[in-house]
Amino acid sequence: MNIVLLGAPGAGKGTQAERLIEKYGIAHISTGDILRAAVSAGTDLGKQAQKFMDAGELVPDTLVIDLVMERLLDDDTKEGFILDGFPRTATQAVALTSKLDEMGRGIDFAIAVEVAPEVIVERLSNRRLCEVCGYIGTSKDEVCPACGGSMYQREDDKAETILNRLSVYDSSTAPLLDYYRGAGQLVAVNGDQSPEAVFADIQAIIGS
Ligand code: AMP
Repeated sequence: MNIVLLGAPGAGKGTQAERLIEKYGIAHISTGDILRAAVSAGTDLGKQAQKFMDAGELVPDTLVIDLVMERLLDDDTKEGFILDGFPRTATQAVALTSKLDEMGRGIDFAIAVEVAPEVIVERLSNRRLCEVCGYIGTSKDEVCPACGGSMYQREDDKAETILNRLSVYDSSTAPLLDYYRGAGQLVAVNGDQSPEAVFADIQAIIGS
């Protein structure tokens, strides 16, 4: 099963992706995670990406498309994959469709996780991550409930960057909903519920 997760930053894509990979045993491709790892490792990609990420801007298509196209060749994607945070522009969406066509594969579901903008701002401001296992929690979690690791706030979850990320989402990424609607692949779930309830809705759509 091949899934694209769509939704604004903070809609809960990462949380739902974790549940989906656990349940269906498919590969998780998060461009945000790959780029953050590249920044931490100080690779060329990381050096080029960092200034865009810190400003809440999109990393240029050429950099992101190449890394996803390569990742799709890995063996662990053969049983299926979840794309989380990609595509984010029309150019990325078209590149993905043509690469999958070439590979004789396709998207089964493009799942839009819908959350009102005011809820998103609140969620992003309160989001904290575990620096050890990547658990996604809130400012109430003093230590990671999953592994006891220290929690931190992403640089781009700070107030000054959040609004820019939302405006970039509206202008560049939200139009992709129409792209996937046109392809007959779009399904929507209400993301303004508990993670368990959102996951139940997703499972009801994709089957178990
Ligand atoms: P995320 O963790 O998905 O919110 O991504 C964090 C940041 O990484 C974004 O604000 C962008 O700067 C960058 N990024 C992640 N995915 C993409 C993408 N598909 N295209 C361009 N930039 C991306």
